[in-house]
Amino acid sequence: MDKDYDLQCFYCTKSEPLSTLMTEVCVLDSSTVYLFHDQKNPGRCIVASNGHKTELFEFSSQERNDYFEDVSNVAKVIHELYGADKINYATYGDLAPHFHVHLVPKKVDGVSWGSPFSDTLEKVHLTEEDKTQWIATLNYHIKKYVKQKI
Ligand SMILES: [Zn+2]
Repeated sequence: MDKDYDLQCFYCTKSEPLSTLMTEVCVLDSSTVYLFHDQKNPGRCIVASNGHKTELFEFSSQERNDYFEDVSNVAKVIHELYGADKINYATYGDLAPHFHVHLVPKKVDGVSWGSPFSDTLEKVHLTEEDKTQWIATLNYHIKKYVKQKI
């Protein structure tokens, strides 16, 4: 079986609960960027690897460098767009092992500052119009930033 694809994985199949939890922003060389629907930390995104890998040691050095270059580029854009004081980088994957990093912008004295971000606090959802606009803005700035680095 192709280890780069898992029929049971919602990141690979792009099936539920993926579309309940997040919406695609753009596809980069090594990853796919999603806007997380719970926006209590404004700008929170997920950067998922293209290809089903579950552990860092499954990536070749080049693949790992390329993937984390994408993570870094998205973090830079989020940091500037949302005025974050700190980006939290979280990767767990117990229930969704496909390798992905949560990029969670934090502000001093904002939601969950000084502690791990929480998915048990009340969720904040954007309107459909705002979500569409935020995704378009992120898409534009991420692609612009990546292109200028080439
Ligand atoms: Zn997968």
